[in-house]
Amino acid sequence: MPELPEVECVRRTLEPRLVGAVVESARLRRRDVLTQPPGQPGAPREALLLAGGRVVNLRRHGKQLAIVTHDGRTCIVQLGMTGSLRWSSEPLARGSLTHVHCVWTLESGRGFFWFVDPRRFGGLTSLREESLATQWAALGPDALTISGSHLHQALARSRRPIKAALLDQHALAGVGNIYADEALFLARLLPHTTCRSLSAATWNRLAHAIRAVLAEAVLAGGSTLRDYRDGEGNPGLYQARHSVYGRAGMPCPSCGATLAGGLLAQRATVWCPACQK
Ligand SMILES: [Zn+2]
Repeated sequence: MPELPEVECVRRTLEPRLVGAVVESARLRRRDVLTQPPGQPGAPREALLLAGGRVVNLRRHGKQLAIVTHDGRTCIVQLGMTGSLRWSSEPLARGSLTHVHCVWTLESGRGFFWFVDPRRFGGLTSLREESLATQWAALGPDALTISGSHLHQALARSRRPIKAALLDQHALAGVGNIYADEALFLARLLPHTTCRSLSAATWNRLAHAIRAVLAEAVLAGGSTLRDYRDGEGNPGLYQARHSVYGRAGMPCPSCGATLAGGLLAQRATVWCPACQK
């Protein structure tokens, strides 16, 4: 499932393709993929999907990506479990449209981009750019720049295991199962540790580990486990550098002990019983 690094890589690969380009048309192939927050005035579907607008910005918060046009129209793309947003200089072939829910055509031969999502846990949201702050305020701060003092303030009274808290998008936005396990390993923290038992210094260490793991993953193009690809169709390389995620039963890359695995907050979790206390 795409987490912050993967969405950031999609943003970075699409930015030079989309920014400055005018959206000639938008074709929604499946209506229930598009939602509008309540209170949005009714508008033609093409307009909701940015047709006629010049793209001025691609913004990201946590796992959400927003395409913004010159007149403030904004389309949030959520990749969910299996979604991707892909650009190409060539239009999609008729036979490749399965699970493609929206296709945008750019003016002046600047190509095409489309949203594809086989399992449909993702989707598109149309809103005005000025509403983005409200929309994103419901999420925690972006995990790429998370501070120890924020984590401390948000979670220090929680009785939840730290791993479960890291997955809570209201506490911090962008961390999912892969990077929670990787960050906890780097911080040498057992995923089951109760939040309220952590000191301020430990929260700082954890915040540093989260930022470090996410930044490295972005530089490596994200993690491709099954179907993740960036905006130009390239897989990530960070999966080869996972220390613990998906490696239960294998040796710890740091101390050689056998990595333990189990379910925590209903998610497969892997840790080193020797390194993580
Ligand atoms: Zn170890």
